[in-house]
Amino acid sequence: MSAKIIDGKVIAADLRARVAEEVARVKRDHGLTPGLAVVLVGNDPASEVYVRNKGKQTEAAGMMSFEHKLPANTSQKDLLALVAKLNADPAVHGILVQLPLPAGLDTQTIINAIDPAKDVDGLHPVNAGRLANGLPALTPCTPLGCIILAKTVHASLEGLNAVIIGRSNLVGRPLVQLLLNENATVTIAHSRTRDLAAICKQADVLLAAVGKPEMVKASWIKPGASVIDVGINRIPGADGKSKLVGDVAYQEALAVAGAITPVPGGVGQMTVACLLVNTLRAACAINGIAAPKV
Ligand code: NAP
Repeated sequence: MSAKIIDGKVIAADLRARVAEEVARVKRDHGLTPGLAVVLVGNDPASEVYVRNKGKQTEAAGMMSFEHKLPANTSQKDLLALVAKLNADPAVHGILVQLPLPAGLDTQTIINAIDPAKDVDGLHPVNAGRLANGLPALTPCTPLGCIILAKTVHASLEGLNAVIIGRSNLVGRPLVQLLLNENATVTIAHSRTRDLAAICKQADVLLAAVGKPEMVKASWIKPGASVIDVGINRIPGADGKSKLVGDVAYQEALAVAGAITPVPGGVGQMTVACLLVNTLRAACAINGIAAPKV
């Protein structure tokens, strides 16, 4: 048996195309152009690549992209002032402050300052709380992408055993809520979990968001299960160059899983596409327009 490869590249491209169609529709019918502001503090090379990519894809979807690059020694006061300006700017419907922030800036204080209506990263406690209460909310992009990928395999997740490894605010915790909304039975594991392998083996859908290269072995996977690998880990490759691997031992997992996301080319592809979805949704909600069907 060889698992079906869940092709994040194709699924994300399809989602971006649907977002672009809806953006064109809200422009035509309502004269509204959604706008996303991305704030990058410092010059972390990986963050610079992410921000550039977000800007390109935002424009390709027909939305306005506003990039704000600030030096690494930016003060908390100046960053908060920029966030306040973006909160008040009617052309900006989504605000994303690229994380991690340089040392000396308090991430939670910055997140708390973002208008929850424009919090397209879904990290503001108001959005996290709304999600936890089963209310409509802007939801973190990576977990949203995981659900979309899982639903390309399972028309419905209802009643399935979903096991998440990792409990970060960015991935694991919002995944719990999103999976509950889909009526899955959810277990969340973390670094203190006992007998992780046995818990994983019960999963119909196994979602790994740990940050440990190839930690999840084939023997942990229930035969036929769907595996969504969120991990992005850089390790030395055979040719002396570094390479990216997930949290799942992909090659051996292929023989056991029913379906699996590759790294790269899986979940990572979905994150920016879902950011575009959130920006479009935020723009519509702020302007009292019905939620787009994407
Ligand atoms: P994080 O904040 O570091 O959280 C990692 C989680 O894994 C924690 O809950 C931790 O448990 C748990 N953990 C650590 N070691 C463990 C072990 N041995 N057994 C079981 N659980 C363990 O990481 P994150 O931000 O959620 O990111 C996780 C991974 O996803 C990283 O590789 C990151 O690069 C990747 N990521 C990818 C995307 C994407 O777009 N594809 C987006 C975001 C993140 P404790 O809570 O007990 O410490």
